[in-house]
Amino acid sequence: MSILIFFDINGTIIERDHRTDLPFSKAVDLTLNTTNAIKDVDTAARSDEDVFYEVLKNHQLTFTDDIWQSLLGHYKMCLDDYRHEDIWRPNVDILTFLNHLSQKKDIKLALITGELSLGALYKLEKIGVWHHFPTGGFGEDGRRRFDIATVALKKAHALYQESFDAIWVIGDTTLDIQTARHIGARVIAITTGAHSRQELAAEKPDYLIDRYSDLKNLF
Ligand SMILES: [Mg+2]
Repeated sequence: MSILIFFDINGTIIERDHRTDLPFSKAVDLTLNTTNAIKDVDTAARSDEDVFYEVLKNHQLTFTDDIWQSLLGHYKMCLDDYRHEDIWRPNVDILTFLNHLSQKKDIKLALITGELSLGALYKLEKIGVWHHFPTGGFGEDGRRRFDIATVALKKAHALYQESFDAIWVIGDTTLDIQTARHIGARVIAITTGAHSRQELAAEKPDYLIDRYSDLKNLF
């Protein structure tokens, strides 16, 4: 029985709060020479690029490769600035859960995230779990979550060379649940992120948990 488990990052692996995306918001402000450009933009479960599109639109600007490259340069600089601070912390009992999964030979791990791989690397290295995720779909793989998930699944098949008996997605938003259904996966929703228990329950995930130990012996 081989199992593939996709993890979302913010609110799922990383404890989400108002500071989680500070490096990205600062990079956007530096790129557009403004302040608080992301303040009223809903970033939950969206790709970094999609968020940037909305900010540009709010400033009557259009997306160009030059402006995108400028953002990436600023983003790298801001990620470096924050790497020694405590803005990224492990979510609830995620470290125990990942250690448990990593000891199971039949379980393979991957990511589905709107984060650019650059940001994902900094965040997950900071909490010491990047090495658990040798592949994934990232913000640069698509503007929409469904497209990112399709790419993530292709990459996981290419890397692991297995036809999995079961595929799971773990995430903290209703969009994670819809994304799981889009790629034919089962889904575990966790209440530690952007959406409430009621909001998540309405999308009927296979499991709705408050912490990973709630899964007991599922894996
Ligand atoms: Mg999330």
